[in-house]
Amino acid sequence: MSFTELGLRSEIVRAVKGYTNPTSIQEKAIPLILKGKDLIASAQTGTGKTAAFLLPILQQLLLGKPSTGPRALVVTPTRELAAQIGDMAKRYGKHLNLRSGVVFGGVGMEPQKRKLAGNLDLLIATPGRLLDHVNRKQAPLNDIQTVVLDEADRMLDMGFLPDVRRILKVLPKKRQNLFFSATMPNDIEALIRRTSRAPVMVEVTRRATPVKKVTQVIHPVQTEQKKDLLKTILQNSNMHHTLVFTRTKARANQLARVLEKAGHAAAAIHSNKSQSARTRALARFRSGKIDILIATDIAARGIDVEGISHVVNFELPEAPEDYVHRIGRTARAGSSGNAISLVSPQEHKKLAAIERLIRTSIKREPVDGFTVAAETLKLKAGRKPKRHSGPPSQGKFRRSKKAEGARKVTKTSSRPAKKKSQRKKRRGSRQTRPMATTA
Ligand code: AMP
Repeated sequence: MSFTELGLRSEIVRAVKGYTNPTSIQEKAIPLILKGKDLIASAQTGTGKTAAFLLPILQQLLLGKPSTGPRALVVTPTRELAAQIGDMAKRYGKHLNLRSGVVFGGVGMEPQKRKLAGNLDLLIATPGRLLDHVNRKQAPLNDIQTVVLDEADRMLDMGFLPDVRRILKVLPKKRQNLFFSATMPNDIEALIRRTSRAPVMVEVTRRATPVKKVTQVIHPVQTEQKKDLLKTILQNSNMHHTLVFTRTKARANQLARVLEKAGHAAAAIHSNKSQSARTRALARFRSGKIDILIATDIAARGIDVEGISHVVNFELPEAPEDYVHRIGRTARAGSSGNAISLVSPQEHKKLAAIERLIRTSIKREPVDGFTVAAETLKLKAGRKPKRHSGPPSQGKFRRSKKAEGARKVTKTSSRPAKKKSQRKKRRGSRQTRPMATTA
């Protein structure tokens, strides 16, 4: 299947001539979007989902009548992701006479206000900042014909859902709705149900399944030895482009200092860094000026850097789904990659939850000098992870005939029996953790 066969015009096909073939999500979503259907798409990170919505939207904009305000809106959770989608829109639209603009928080309102007044065709925005503009009556959204909610589940996690609801309220009722979400939590399902009458479900891979081409390994280690172990494994000359994940901003800063002291070119990005510092660090990582980027989950959300050779989980994430998001940063668009997790005995429950989610037992590979006693570790591989109770009830949504697998959308909640109070506490921290961070 070629891009032309999907119904895209030559001006758009020319802009993606570096891509040999459409990816699976592109094959499925593009024809449906061109037909004007509402869509719920579940695609792994790195599958080409941005082009899957941008290419048909650009075509619709090209064929439609220009108006004074933007006709398509992409709402996305992080600044990096917004900037990246903006870059992609420019790249894919380079042979088209269309105007796109990006607005996100952390930078001045005034230039964005001027941009919004400047006859945009496509607007890409983070929810908080867009709502600020809406409240000041300087975001003309009356002409929106298509809205994309990108990474909808992440917007929920980051506490943006009320903002998103408010934004949807001010959009024209008659419009095309495109939802992209890796998982389908109840709140998102309810939002979709309220927003869209007959969305077509497009699923390209099983939910929450790591990219097949990522080689995953666990290095068991005591917490206090993790820094030394990281320094040791970074001596591996293959690790030329490594993204290290930490759970906290403080740890990310600390590690950047430790690694710089050890002679590495490293930088940290997280939400306490200014937008310009984040952009600069990302640019230096992209260009190869630094070979190690240390990031928290939220800051790394939008990172699309080609050729990340290794993802290192210095600490396992709080939510097992984040493990999948993290390791999806390597092995982008078909290349292969490596995910290394440094796991202490205290993290064995988190590891078990991850293995249940991905339905795979990850290979344990002790490193000489860093092993931990098996009985303290409780990390012995071998027990077959329990089957995961599949994701949510999308049977209710109409499914694309072409969609792979008639699997139900899984609610990623096969949690071990835990005290209710404990679960509540965790849920609370998961929701509040990222709220103060982006946009
Ligand atoms: P995304 O999943 O949208 O973050 O895209 C991940 C990466 O895949 C980006 O670097 C895109 O440039 C790249 N990409 C998108 N579509 C294709 C394609 N059809 N063939 C090869 N690479 C692609």
